[in-house]
Amino acid sequence: MRRRAHLRLVTSAESEDPTLSAVLDAEDLAEELGLDPHARATCGLHRSWLHECVTSPDHVIPLTGHRWCRPCASPLEVHLDETTARLSCPSCGTRTPDTAANRQVVRACRTSLAATHAR
Ligand SMILES: [Zn+2]
Ligand SMILES: [Zn+2]
Repeated sequence: MRRRAHLRLVTSAESEDPTLSAVLDAEDLAEELGLDPHARATCGLHRSWLHECVTSPDHVIPLTGHRWCRPCASPLEVHLDETTARLSCPSCGTRTPDTAANRQVVRACRTSLAATHAR
């Protein structure tokens, strides 16, 4: 049987979710016009809702402090439920480190979760 693995790239989650495609496009444009990329409900890198890829190591950004515990120099774990996200540091405890950057991660996840459940 012939394998057609090269065709797999064509099927993206984007095409199955018109809401996601629309919001991705709108936020791509908004970002070019000055929207903070970390305020987005969609991910310009992974082309998905933020909560679907926020657990990726790509979303740990020591420079800005997003998903990052500065005192421990350690990435934060993300716990998602239906409506919100919680961040916890595996080194120093379970609380979301209360920094502007980590609050922004939580807020953007809440927006993306709300957007998917609104459908
Ligand atoms: Zn992403
Ligand atoms: Zn810590």
